[in-house]
Amino acid sequence: MASTGQSPCGRYAPSPTGPLHIGGARTALAAWLSVRTVGGTFLLRMEDLDTRRAVPGAAEDILEDLAWLGIDWDAGPDTDSSYVQSRRKALYEDALACLWKQGRLFPCKLSRKDLRRLATAPHGGPPHLPYPASLRPRRLAPDWFEHHRDGQASLRFRVSEDPVTFEDRVSGRVCERVSESVGDFVVKRRDGVYAYQLAVVVDDLRMGITEVVRGRDLITSTARQIQLFEALGSSPPAYGHVPLVVAPDGTKLSKRHGSLAIRALRAQGLRAPDLVGCLACSLGLRSEPAPCRAIDLVDEFSWQRVNKDPWVISGGTFARLAVP
Ligand code: GLU
Repeated sequence: MASTGQSPCGRYAPSPTGPLHIGGARTALAAWLSVRTVGGTFLLRMEDLDTRRAVPGAAEDILEDLAWLGIDWDAGPDTDSSYVQSRRKALYEDALACLWKQGRLFPCKLSRKDLRRLATAPHGGPPHLPYPASLRPRRLAPDWFEHHRDGQASLRFRVSEDPVTFEDRVSGRVCERVSESVGDFVVKRRDGVYAYQLAVVVDDLRMGITEVVRGRDLITSTARQIQLFEALGSSPPAYGHVPLVVAPDGTKLSKRHGSLAIRALRAQGLRAPDLVGCLACSLGLRSEPAPCRAIDLVDEFSWQRVNKDPWVISGGTFARLAVP
């Protein structure tokens, strides 16, 4: 459900773990069009909390590739360092204190391996999920939160049993019972890193984001995030999960596919209008992949037109567009 009374505000929130690839560019274009078509604000946020996965220079390259595509932003890491997650840790700590005061947090010393060993019931998901409610501590010292130290335990969020329902702009109605799919989930890791689920919600809330547009691979995080929004006293934004770009064998294209990095395509001579035209066609916004600028699509964008199926491409898809 979109927050009411707020002016439209969207964002693109890449992690600097490698170059921007075709799927990321397509999602960023959809996120930008969705909010620009209603005259809203577009923000860029760099999600760099997991320093082990960060690639030096990737953040700058992503911004440069987005600008090359014709995507602009009203605020972002290039103009304001508060759009970089590693600079926002005090806000995540405040949110944890708020959850703790409500009795929604507990420390957990178990590793994934421990949980895998404890899992007995056969089910479809990963073997360490859902986190068994029986492992919730029965009693905690009233001041445990003030004394917990990174390295001793992760912090988990006590999920509600109530099912979460939301309307996805592409997939329609989604309903998930988080207590059955993942159970109490980690909001701060044992190594002190704030979990993606927590940081993204705190940031979307604090930045006044009214619509979250991202890749479909993240749709399984949304119900958890909605529970966090509600626990932090806010209504969740609207959601649109853009279908993924997949290889002909149906596997997800990822940063592994270096040849489909925007950098690499640019180096092969691909021009921005050719790529934007191709992305627009793949999204269902144009019937032909004729060259166009991102700005030309603003008035034509509508979620009703966005393709519900993954975009199947092979390494050669762009070869014919590149200038020799
Ligand atoms: N940083 C995440 C990623 O690059 C996206 C987070 C989000 O849009 O919620 O996969």
